[in-house]
Amino acid sequence: MASVLSGRLALKAEVDKVAEVAQYLWQKGWAERNGGNITINITGFVDEEMAEMPAISAPRAIGKVLPHLKGAWFYCKGTGKRMRDLAREPMANGSIIRILPDCASYEIVADEPVAPTSELPSHLAVHDYLLAKGSPYRATLHTHPIELVALTHSKKWMEKDVATKMLWSMIPETKAFCPRGLGMVPYMLPSSVELAEATIRAIDDDYDVVMWEKHGVFAVDVDIMDAFDQVDVLNKAAQIFIAARSMGFEPEGMSEEQMAQLSAAFSLPK
Ligand SMILES: [Zn+2]
Repeated sequence: MASVLSGRLALKAEVDKVAEVAQYLWQKGWAERNGGNITINITGFVDEEMAEMPAISAPRAIGKVLPHLKGAWFYCKGTGKRMRDLAREPMANGSIIRILPDCASYEIVADEPVAPTSELPSHLAVHDYLLAKGSPYRATLHTHPIELVALTHSKKWMEKDVATKMLWSMIPETKAFCPRGLGMVPYMLPSSVELAEATIRAIDDDYDVVMWEKHGVFAVDVDIMDAFDQVDVLNKAAQIFIAARSMGFEPEGMSEEQMAQLSAAFSLPK
């Protein structure tokens, strides 16, 4: 059977980006076993013929009503699937779903009846929030970047914007490419409604990347490559901090004056 991606170059390019990012996550050691999740809103890439395709699964309940997702389409990683496998075969380790008119259930349309991630309700809740806000962001990423997760094992770095300031001060590009910094969400049970709600509150507080204490990051951006880049840049800064500490000294960090000069030169938020 031909893939739904055949002849749909723009859609294929989006799914290929997910596969490329999945490979990076594995290479970086951020995606052990089936760790991490990716969900992208592909509604803008669905043509009329695809919109008419029959489902290959029965409708399944999302577990919540998400009014802004009516008729929306998503590619999402499959439950229990590995990022390293998704990198090679994105349509065998993920699936394309459409949200039904009740905004509370979905059906799988392609290519294989791969059940979406157990984190689907929380990822979709974030997409619902983004659409409600009129955001151009279409990708959500959850992964386990080692050095950033390590930081959250100290209460000092969990305080609002303490880690952000340290990370920004390690190398100028961090603030330039992650101008909204790193939001912090205290430990909550994985997959819980509370964690999803706290994540949305942090995104609403104007963060693109949110840290879950002792667990991982949740990032949003225009597409999956940009979401990955933000996490990569922040984790690089954490690695520089750790490298300096490993050399036996406390890194100086850029000064307040240097940070202010950088913000002015690149029109970054204060
Ligand atoms: Zn996780």
